[in-house]
Amino acid sequence: MKKGIHPDYKKVKIICTSCGNEFEGGSVMDEVRIDTCSNCHPFYTGKQRFASADGRVDKFNKKYGIK
Ligand SMILES: [Zn+2]
Repeated sequence: MKKGIHPDYKKVKIICTSCGNEFEGGSVMDEVRIDTCSNCHPFYTGKQRFASADGRVDKFNKKYGIK
């Protein structure tokens, strides 16, 4: 690899904005924020909490009379 043309790929702190979980990963950015991680993703937790937490679908359905 040529030096000076590649961004530094380094160890960074990855922060999950949903559950606050922090873990290390590799990235060219200083800090990585993700919406979901293996700690809180419904696939791993077995709980579906994202759809109910927001309620946007419910609001939409009520607005247009969909049941
Ligand atoms: Zn998480």
